[in-house]
Amino acid sequence: MKKITIAIDGYSSTGKSTIAKQLANALGYVYVDTGAMYRAVTLFALRNKWVADGHFDIASVKGNLASVHLNFVPNEVDGKSDMYLNGENVERQIRTMEVSRQVSKIATIKEVREKMVALQQQMGVEKGIVMDGRDIGTVVFPDAELKIFMNASADARAHRRYKELLDRGDKVTYAEVLKNVQERDTIDSTRETSPLRKAEGAILFDNSDMGLKEQFERIHNYALRVIQKESV
Ligand code: C5P
Repeated sequence: MKKITIAIDGYSSTGKSTIAKQLANALGYVYVDTGAMYRAVTLFALRNKWVADGHFDIASVKGNLASVHLNFVPNEVDGKSDMYLNGENVERQIRTMEVSRQVSKIATIKEVREKMVALQQQMGVEKGIVMDGRDIGTVVFPDAELKIFMNASADARAHRRYKELLDRGDKVTYAEVLKNVQERDTIDSTRETSPLRKAEGAILFDNSDMGLKEQFERIHNYALRVIQKESV
């Protein structure tokens, strides 16, 4: 069977990564969470105090990008990949609300995006990849054989994210999570460089009222159909 490229884009907390991971597993493909990469750059900027609420030193972020080294390393315990920033496992640190509050600002920087896109394209040269993010179908892999654009109501998305953070033991309020989801959507969709858009030919997938099992089955079926078509 021919290997294809699968691009999954969409709004924040639409469950892209859960489905993308399951799909990659089922197909024996590599899964890449591009949000983790923007989050790791954000952590780097936060630690250096180049970004905070009401403060954004874009020149320093740009000027120090060459010192940011990112790697995905398979985690023996759960079989997933962890994000490493300059040799340090930052998988947990990149998922905090503090990083979520700043990441969309960092993701507006053209030079940051260029660096991330180049790394992502390199990871996908051999195909057999499921990548999720905001610009995968539009910029990273415009020729992907299968493109999905996920959406759900802001309320459904904030509830999912809130539950995830509570399960991790983080102290957050629902209102704070909802505000963050909405703010990220606004910044992501209105930024100048590669704004969040449904790519041409992408399948619009609204999962507000759909359980995980049904979502996976539908998207898995789309993938199998495309793989079959590409393999004849
Ligand atoms: O996917 P996740 O919610 O972890 O992404 C965090 C943020 O990273 C997004 O809100 C967006 O600002 C940025 N991002 C991006 N392009 C991608 C992936 C993520 O701009 N391909």
